[in-house]
Amino acid sequence: MNSLQDYLAWRRGEKNIPPRCAVITFDDGWKSQYEVAWPILKKLGYPLTLFIYTEGVRGGLLGGGEAITWEQLAEMRDNGVDIEAHTATHQDLREGHAIMVFAPGAKRTKTKLTGPEYEQWLQNEVVAPKQLLEQRLAVKVNCFAVPFGNYNDHVKEMARNAGYEAMFTVYGQPLTFNSPLDSLGRYAIEANKPKVFEDAIKMIGSSAGGATAAAVVGPADIAPHPADGDTVRTALPLIKANLSSVGQIDPASVQMRVSGLGLVPASYDPKTGAVTYQVTQKLREKTCTVILTAKSGDKKIEAHWTFGIEEGAAAPVAPSPSPAKKK
Ligand SMILES: [Zn+2]
Repeated sequence: MNSLQDYLAWRRGEKNIPPRCAVITFDDGWKSQYEVAWPILKKLGYPLTLFIYTEGVRGGLLGGGEAITWEQLAEMRDNGVDIEAHTATHQDLREGHAIMVFAPGAKRTKTKLTGPEYEQWLQNEVVAPKQLLEQRLAVKVNCFAVPFGNYNDHVKEMARNAGYEAMFTVYGQPLTFNSPLDSLGRYAIEANKPKVFEDAIKMIGSSAGGATAAAVVGPADIAPHPADGDTVRTALPLIKANLSSVGQIDPASVQMRVSGLGLVPASYDPKTGAVTYQVTQKLREKTCTVILTAKSGDKKIEAHWTFGIEEGAAAPVAPSPSPAKKK
């Protein structure tokens, strides 16, 4: 077990880390993270990073009785917990999405912000939380986790300009020396998704610092459709990618996995490199992650991407208390 800062120091060439290790992070800032999780991690001697959305801390616009307090954060900081930023109000940061606007004394309204209004709002979500955490806790904040993993190049640019060294999403992938610092994946461990935990543990065992792991191919190299970060209006999308630029592929080795569906019978055309799958069973979640793996010689290749499904298009699911759905 190493800290997130160890990983970044390794990337900067400042220190070494063991070939097999993992980083533990918690998002949002619930008091259970202080009361339940932290004592266990302390006992085990495992380092911890918290990604906090500042209005979700007790007393903030969204900080209710289950929220962590600034005093608890300060105590954790004093004991070596790394505290990093996760926006101000925990919303989809991409322009064009409905945004909950909090005006003092007024009713909360959802609206689409554009142009300078959107830019102002984005600044407040990306830049201000870093300043606030740094000022209130006297720490250095160099990491940013994106709510729901939804972002685009503009959001990345603003985060870079704000001084964040690394940005984190929530699609699971092993972190290597070459993982892009503006989209570092994490396995979102949830009690009702034991498979994700299993996969994550397997990756620790097999990635050996990236040397024997699958070569992770960025979405840009496989021309995915729906594109990475895009939102579609159907819960039955046609999923496509192209492997022609990633090397000579063993046709029998091509596998596509879709979140919520698992392994799907995708077809692969060796002539064009196209992998396609028409979803036939409505996707139920608001985001969909596709994992494509294949073998090229004795090398394993792996690509991940994530797209969104417009609200209303997804199959209805039983309502559940929203805090538990956050990542
Ligand atoms: Zn979150």
